[in-house]
This record gives sequence, structure tokens and C-alpha cells, in this order.
Amino acid sequence: MGWQDYAWDPSWTSGPVTVTWLGTAGFCIEADGQRLLLDPYLTRASLGTAAFGRLVTDPALIAPWTERVVAIATGHTHFDHAMDVPALAALSGARVYGSTSAAALCRAARIPESRVVDVQTRPLPWDDEVGPFRLRFVASQHSRFLLGRVPYPGDISDCDQVPTRTRAFRCGAVFRIEVRVLGRTIVHVGSADLIDDAAPPITCDLALACVAGWTSTREYPERLVRALAPNHVLLSHWDNFFRPAAGGARVLPTMKLEKLTDRLSRAQGQDARIGALEIGAHLTI
Ligand SMILES: [Zn+2]
Repeated sequence: MGWQDYAWDPSWTSGPVTVTWLGTAGFCIEADGQRLLLDPYLTRASLGTAAFGRLVTDPALIAPWTERVVAIATGHTHFDHAMDVPALAALSGARVYGSTSAAALCRAARIPESRVVDVQTRPLPWDDEVGPFRLRFVASQHSRFLLGRVPYPGDISDCDQVPTRTRAFRCGAVFRIEVRVLGRTIVHVGSADLIDDAAPPITCDLALACVAGWTSTREYPERLVRALAPNHVLLSHWDNFFRPAAGGARVLPTMKLEKLTDRLSRAQGQDARIGALEIGAHLTI
């Protein structure tokens, strides 16, 4: 069975909370006409640019995601999660939540301090309310997919300008983000690992589960299900994000999606629902 067989059936439920996949680990959750962006990375720089060039946000690609955004939350600060955040924050006027590294990025873009929340300075798990969203930040960790290591470890220190090199986007502290909105619980896991005892287990309606690097993480599917007991899982960060979104998401063979969905299904049991969306597509829960 190929990963396409798990494509989401949008008819499974209805309601006023929509979840749009932006590509990579990026999502927009919309409720009551207000939006929350999670790890939004829309620029999708080419491999050549990421390796040798300068990373610069594409204004045309972020423009559709600057209206009605009340908050932007980042789970860690690698470029494919955080490089578009300062520009999105500047244009939207949204409040930004993230690590000390994410706060440094925002400061470099002259985002007012009043709109930047350094989650790392709070005792975790930590909750806050913004618009219709209640956010809970739980300590997490990045998958060690690069020969057993986290790529670009460490923090982004205070900088004069938003960095433009891939290596400057250091990982920073890592969080999983629980979102409670209009009675639903949605959990964003932006990198394929968890800290098992960082918070008591919960039951969630939807887990937004990072795929990239999962095979390097011990029992990732089983631990994810144990921590979050998700009714549904939406897979993310399985796409080749060096390609433009306009060509459609292309799965990388190294993602081993079939194996992941099999193990998630087994861990979830009979009612398992696991899916994936096309970039820009949404589901309603
Ligand atoms: Zn990362």
C-alpha cells in the first residue's frame, strides 16, 4: 500500500475549525475567522540556495498568510521552520511564540518586544491564550537524523539582522505545541521526537506529526500515540521542501511512509485514521 492510500478524506467530519497544510511542518489553524500559524515555511528555497546562497523570504508566497493572523508559534528555529516567521510577524502584526532563538530572530526584524513571547523563559508546560486559541508549550527534542545528531545544534544569539545562511538557523529549544480551540485539541509535533515525561499523556483529536527523521527515533510512532492518543494523525514534513509548492508535494523515499503508517495504525488500534494533505489543502474538524 502506498502513502497515497492514506490521502485524507475531507468528508469525515465537519465543523468550524480548519487546518491547512502549508508544506514542511507548517500549518494554519483557523477558527472564528482568526488564524494561528505553526512553523510556517512558505519560501521553500531551492537546494542550491539553501546550500550555497542566501535565504530570503519570498513576499509573494507569504502574502496569503498575513491576514487575520493573531499568533505564530514555532517549535524550533531551523530555517525550514522559522525563516519566514519574522516577515510574517512584521506584516501580520501577530504575536510570536517560540524559543529564545525565535525571539532573537524577531528582534532582528524589529518586531516590537510586546509581540514576542520567549517561551523558554517560562516554566514548561506553559499555557497562554490568544484569540480563540489556547496554546500549551511542552518541552520536546529534535530527531537525531544526521548520523545520530541534531543538525545545526545550539541557539541563535542576538543578531543585528535576520540571518540568511542555513547554518545560522540553529535549532534552539524544541517544543511540541498543544492547541485547544472550540473544544478541539490539536497537537503540533514539528520534529519527529518527544520527551516522554515532559507532560502527562493526553487525548487529542488531531496530531500534526512530523515524518522527517522518524526512522532515527526510537519507537517514534508508538511513543507519539502513547503521549497524545490521537483520534487522527495528519502527516507532515514528508515533502521535498526544496521544490516549489506549485508543483505539488513530492514524497521523499527515505521517509518510509508506508512503514510509519503501519506502525501508527497498529499503535492506534481499530479507529486509526491517518492522512496527508496536498500543500494548501485543508480539512475541517
Ligand atoms: Zn529541524
